Amino acid sequence: MSLFYDFHIHSCLSPCAEEDMTPYNLVNLSAIMGMEAIALTDHNSCQNCGAAMRAGEQAGITVIPGMELCTCEEVHVVCLFEELKAAEEFSDFVLRGAPQIKNRPEIFGTQLIMDETDKILGEQEILLTMASSISIDDVEKLVDGYGGVCYPAHIDRSSYSVISNLGMITPEMGFEVAEVSPMGDVHALKEKFPVLNNMKILTSSDAHRLESLRPAELSLHTENNIKSIIRHLKNR
Ligand SMILES: [Zn+2]
Ligand SMILES: [Zn+2]
Repeated sequence: MSLFYDFHIHSCLSPCAEEDMTPYNLVNLSAIMGMEAIALTDHNSCQNCGAAMRAGEQAGITVIPGMELCTCEEVHVVCLFEELKAAEEFSDFVLRGAPQIKNRPEIFGTQLIMDETDKILGEQEILLTMASSISIDDVEKLVDGYGGVCYPAHIDRSSYSVISNLGMITPEMGFEVAEVSPMGDVHALKEKFPVLNNMKILTSSDAHRLESLRPAELSLHTENNIKSIIRHLKNR
């Protein structure tokens, strides 16, 4: 079956996202837009994933616990997990190894932790947009160990992408998937980086505000459950 997806969405936990991007709002608006499976991928944290998954159960839409990890090379990598518990353990691991720099909400924006009913549970004090201690060379194996899949985000962009920061994407990095932005030119990228011909190309919204959530257009051929989606992305 084909499945309308958006696997790159930020909530109000990301300092750069709008405060009305609550787990409840982003899940329900995605469902209204026709999405069948989404992933919540805040910068370096999975702390709002549980709330989004519970909102998803009520809205009848699959919500995958995820994260947009910033590697030590400042490359953004989308990480998706089969289980919430593993996602939260990975999130704790990332935060422990991150530079312990405090967020300054007045400059960078708030980092709100919420439940599925828009109740604020707290604020993350460590700034989530810093580079983590994890290298692009290790991330695939590491995330696989947590039962997840990961892939480089918005590879066509001129910042925080594997191509902008490292100038290349190689098979040794271990990725089966690459994400290209909605405006990216997949054909031109494949000509320049032939390794992409052997990879699945996904396009997601990277929405930081409700207006940026996209109507359902792109689909994957897989069953609508997290396990099947992750296996499909891993080619297993
Ligand atoms: Zn990014
Ligand atoms: Zn993002």
